[in-house]
Amino acid sequence: MKHYALIGNPNSGKTTLFNTLTGSTAHVGNWPGVTVDKKEGLYKKLEEHVSIIDLPGIYSLSPYTPEEVISRDYIMLEKPDCVINIVDATNLERNLYLTTQLLEMDVPVVIALNMIDVVRKNGHDIDPKYLEKKIGVPVVAISAQKEENIDELMKAVYKESLKKRKGSSILDNSVLSGLIKRLKYEFEKVNENNPLFHAIKLIENDEIEAKQHENFVKIVDEFKETFDDEIFKKDLEAIIADARYKYITENYILSKKEDYKESTSDKIDKVLTNKWAGIPIFLGILFLLFHFTFSENLFFLGGLFKNIPPSFEGSPFEGVLWTENGINSLGVVLKTFVEALTALLGQVIEGWLVNAPLWIRSFVSDGALAGVFSVLSFVPQILVLFLFFSILEDSGYMARVAFILDKIFRKFGLSGRAFMPMIMGFGCSVPAMINTRTLADENERTATVRVIPFFSCGAKLPILTAIAGGIVQLFKIGNADIIVYSMYVLGMVTAFVSVIVMKHTTMKGEVPPFIMELPNYHLPQIKSLAIHLWDKLKHYIQKAFTVILASTIIIWFLSSFSFKFEFLLESIEYEGESIVANTRMNESILGNIGNVIAPLFAPLGFGSNLKAYPYAFVISAFTGLVAKENVIATFGTLAACVGGGYVASDNGVLEVVAMIEATGITIPALISFIAFNMLTIPCFATVATARGELPKKKFLTTLLFWLGTSYFVSMMIYMIGSWWWTSFIFVGIIALVIIGIYFFNHFRATKERNV
Ligand code: GDP
Ligand code: MG
Repeated sequence: MKHYALIGNPNSGKTTLFNTLTGSTAHVGNWPGVTVDKKEGLYKKLEEHVSIIDLPGIYSLSPYTPEEVISRDYIMLEKPDCVINIVDATNLERNLYLTTQLLEMDVPVVIALNMIDVVRKNGHDIDPKYLEKKIGVPVVAISAQKEENIDELMKAVYKESLKKRKGSSILDNSVLSGLIKRLKYEFEKVNENNPLFHAIKLIENDEIEAKQHENFVKIVDEFKETFDDEIFKKDLEAIIADARYKYITENYILSKKEDYKESTSDKIDKVLTNKWAGIPIFLGILFLLFHFTFSENLFFLGGLFKNIPPSFEGSPFEGVLWTENGINSLGVVLKTFVEALTALLGQVIEGWLVNAPLWIRSFVSDGALAGVFSVLSFVPQILVLFLFFSILEDSGYMARVAFILDKIFRKFGLSGRAFMPMIMGFGCSVPAMINTRTLADENERTATVRVIPFFSCGAKLPILTAIAGGIVQLFKIGNADIIVYSMYVLGMVTAFVSVIVMKHTTMKGEVPPFIMELPNYHLPQIKSLAIHLWDKLKHYIQKAFTVILASTIIIWFLSSFSFKFEFLLESIEYEGESIVANTRMNESILGNIGNVIAPLFAPLGFGSNLKAYPYAFVISAFTGLVAKENVIATFGTLAACVGGGYVASDNGVLEVVAMIEATGITIPALISFIAFNMLTIPCFATVATARGELPKKKFLTTLLFWLGTSYFVSMMIYMIGSWWWTSFIFVGIIALVIIGIYFFNHFRATKERNV
């Protein structure tokens, strides 16, 4: 089967075109570097089916970033039948820079002049025939988004892929042409593919090339010697880059700079990326997002609702739209609605089982339903938050935020590029870690991968809200919103402190420069948002019914049976109703295993120091290693056992209340428990991703880093929260560490100087 590779600058529309061609639903984002790995799909409208490969976006074929290496290796090693070079027609100069390098390879190329709709809307036009004559390969003007001219493009690609093409270079008439010819000849002699490309890369002093062909390097060096000119002695790469740009402006750029009008994008940017207003605006937008997702008192109008009965009073959907606390935000409306539905469903199922044996009733409601329902009730809020983030990203705003934040990030030792993976971490750590491939510097990448889990993901949200809710309900203090927000902030603070520490110890070095083209603003596309949300929804539902269902069943089993397989649950009377309870959980398999590890967690406040069921919290945290939703799902299962008067709820709050009452855990220990779960080793999927993204050597230290950080921070919270004077001890420890780092660096620097 023929295969065609899509190649182009970040944000030029490769993925949009890929999705249009293959009918697939890869993530399109108005953000450079969204495609960080290659994807493959089928295009079926030609006389034969062909395979399309979406490569990561790149600015050149020099090996500065991992993406550039992926794309370059792909063309050289996999030898696609044709390369479709996507060029953003609104930015020809930068895009054609890559084209000039691509043309040097021995591969058929067709140029897809994308975003022609935008060019036309701005009152310009570009004649593809003119460009075609100049460049020497077919040029087809398309709009990937409006699906214009796509079939014509593919016909041209197919026709071209039947031919062979030899590389050609715009440098042929330059001062370097002699040297290029000479080297090309050398490469041909050793039967190297793409001789012209190799020759020019070698002259550019390309790292990979120089390493692979050490014996040819001296030819370049000899050539340099023949020139007196100082410039030639040093840097041929700069000369070549210059020649490329000059050629492009002289030959390809049709509209003169004077035509340039201040576009709407520029006008908006004057405000949004303003030195002073930029960050407050971003914080304001972030606040609104959280407000629309989590608030039960939208626009703070609660006072007006004091004497108004809740919406749908008396029905199962009571309080879905508003309650006496105020209007519900979109996230809360959907969440309350799902909770009402699952509660109804739960009642129906339990109704069927009234006469079934005890163990079946318990298995269904505590083992199977409790876990799945508690996950489902959080899906709406995760999706709403995700939708808002997608809108910001697709509109082009997120790229601006990275740009504004770069200055601040630099102080922490990161570039603005690290911002996107971190923000993505609020959704899910897995794509966030994969996105770190856009970071060119290995140290920066490792640091970012390590702190991504500290940006509390959607699956950790239930832990935060349920425990915060439990604290407020039982101790009658505080405000659930504020507890949740402060835990988010705690995560971010821990992340930044960690980066600072890493930058001063194991990962010293310069912060790489941050170069990014700001994409044009545009309205987000409903279609791509919908695809995006649907994928996410599918993902969570799958997870609820597979991993989480399985884990809750296992936990139920381990907590309901003893080592002798004796069933421990019994039916007891509680306030006139008969409920299932596990009054002998200490004898269960889980209780026995848990008792062994519980002492390790006593310093954090939720281990063997608890007055009863010392293993309950530890076990919940452990199940979180499979998936973080499990923590609260496990609470659901355990609460049925530990809390005599426990009544199931869908939001986890009652489970937490039952657990607090049964174990006698304190507020500082609960906060420490949240912190531990937020900061410790993330879920299995994330750990596997981290392992793939990190160098082998750094993976183990990363696991230890997560474990150590979470243990230390949680211990600090519990100790200081319980005995304020311990804060002196922690201040002392931290001071010692800082002094230690200082002397360590000092010592190392001296040693290096002496070597
Ligand atoms: P990639 O980084 O090259 O994969 O680019 P994407 O496919 O993610 O597209 C970048 C942005 O440009 C997205 O917001 C697209 O919706 C938008 N886009 C892509 N093609 C076109 C087009 O032909 N016309 C317009 N107006 N926008 C486009
Ligand atoms: Mg892409």
